[in-house]
This record gives sequence, structure tokens and C-alpha cells, in this order.
Amino acid sequence: MDGRLVVVGSLNMDLSVTVPRLPRPGETVSGADVVRGPGGKGGNQAVAAARLGARVRMVGLLGDDAHGGELRAALVAEGIDDRAVGTLPDTPSGLALIVVRHDGENTITLSPGANDRLDESALRTLTAGTVAHRADTVLLQLEVPLPTVLAAARAARAAGALTVLNAAPLPAPDPLLYELLREVDVLIVNETEAAGLLGRPGGGSWTARAEQLRRLGPGTVVVTLGAAGAVAAGAGSPLTEPGFPVHAVDAVGAGDAFCAQLALALGQKRPLADAVRGACAAGAVAATRPGAQRALPTRAEVDALLARDPR
Ligand code: ADP
Repeated sequence: MDGRLVVVGSLNMDLSVTVPRLPRPGETVSGADVVRGPGGKGGNQAVAAARLGARVRMVGLLGDDAHGGELRAALVAEGIDDRAVGTLPDTPSGLALIVVRHDGENTITLSPGANDRLDESALRTLTAGTVAHRADTVLLQLEVPLPTVLAAARAARAAGALTVLNAAPLPAPDPLLYELLREVDVLIVNETEAAGLLGRPGGGSWTARAEQLRRLGPGTVVVTLGAAGAVAAGAGSPLTEPGFPVHAVDAVGAGDAFCAQLALALGQKRPLADAVRGACAAGAVAATRPGAQRALPTRAEVDALLARDPR
């Protein structure tokens, strides 16, 4: 059975250059040939979900520049419904300028462009007021304005869809963020975001911290722990998933693959333990390949890893 998923979020073009060392302010450093590819947390998670077998509708905004055309074509090539992706005149598309040192350390300069114009009125126009659009699940991140994410979460809930928030990137403390947490069913964060939301250096086990995050509103909280897998707290006892031992080369994309698979499985009412295990498998496959969208796995690849490591 295909899951139906709506992603409301960002679409960026990623321009990435690998350098021998990161430039200091005022300095010029020559690097390798530029690598260009579609990105943005919204776009990445939409593509991940489509490769994992979901029927995906994307809601977002592009500029009327060449990048906008390429970003739309990339969504369509993945079979994603782009009817709720608007194009704004005289506006640049979102752009990420990424400089990567050979050991993986990097700096990213983000120009949100059209993503920043996704306000509540644009959201209503793009979705004709029905964000969930018969979807099982609405998947959100924080690369578009916070009031829009809150409006999308409320609309999704009102329509009876499972509302999943990947609270990344975490903004400066904002009361609206805590209001948003009360409107979502499932929260996914990494270790840094978990600590940021709890507002203090974390103490206790990760499962205890996931339980603390649940008190902020979401019925289910999942904390991703990189190569160490993930923990989750829901209605039953908290659970720990150790993750899959793989030869990791680049964790970019792992978090997005994880979020897409988790959202998809929970939207299909799969048990939390199965959903977290499948999400860890999706993240692990993504970590074995370089790049963001090109690293995202297919359903068959994730199922193959799950079958190879039965528990
Ligand atoms: P983020 O990039 O958002 O910080 P993580 O690094 O925690 O996210 O990765 C998300 C998930 O991907 C992890 O929970 C894990 O399941 C999987 N993953 C990431 N890195 C590795 C790795 N090196 N080996 C195996 N699995 C990994």
C-alpha cells in the first residue's frame, strides 16, 4: 500500500566546492570543480519519501530563475506532485553555498530566496486551504517561516493527518516554536536539536531526554544519534535502536532519509519500533554514499539492508 505524504518546506539549489582548507575572512582559496544539485530539507525529504514508495505532494515556492526550473524538474523526475509548488516572479530560488574541506568539515551560507516568501497567505493559495490533501501524513521542517509551519501543522491536524516535524534547523529560541510543538504528533530531532529544545546541556539518558521532549507536546519523540542509531519515546516504553553497521562515507542526507521513512511508516500505522528500525536502515544506506539527494535510498535498498540484518 502506498502512503500519501505532503511535504511543506524548502527547495534549494546546492552549490558545493571542495577546498584544501576553509578560507578565513577576506581570503580567497581555490577549490575543485563546483558540484551542483537540488537540496533543501523540504525537497530532500520529499525525494526520499518518493524513492521509498510514497505518493508525495510538495508544497513550496521557487523563484523564476534557472535554478527554479531545474528544481521543479528534479521533483517531477522523482514522480512528485508539484502542483502546489509555486513560482514567484522577480525572486531568486533558495540557494546553499557549501564549502567543504577534504575531511568533511564545511561551512554553508544559505540564501533562502523564495522559501522565505512562503507566508500563510501563500500557503493557503498553493493548497486551496487543504494542506493535507487526502494525505496520511504531513511532514514539516524549519527552513520556511515558522508561522507558516505552525499554520500547516494546524491545518494538517484539523484534516486528521499525522503531523510530523523535523525541528531542523533549530531557530533561536522563539515562543512560536513551543506553540508548534504542541501542534505536532511526531517530533524528530538530532542530539544538538534535542539539547537546544530542552534549553540546557542534556542530562540523563537519551531515552530520558526523549521523554522530556514529549512533555513539550508531541505524542512521539524520536532522537537520531548518528552511527549509534536512534531512541524513541511514545505511548509505550521508550525504545533504543542501535542502528546498522555500514561503511559510512558522508552523513549528509541520512537525517532526511530517516525522517521520510519514519513519517511514511507511522502514517501507515506501523508500530513505532518497526518505523524507527526502518528509518535507521534508510539513514544508514544514505550514509554510505556522498551527496544529499543522490545519496537517498530506494525502498528496495532499505528492504535489502533490513533483510540482511534481521533481529
Ligand atoms: P542528522 O544528520 O540530522 O544529524 P544523524 O546523523 O543522527 O542525523 O543521522 C540520522 C540517522 O541516519 C541516524 O539515526 C542513523 O540511523 C543513520 N545514520 C547516520 N549516520 C550513520 C552511520 N555512520 N552509520 C549508520 N547509520 C547512520
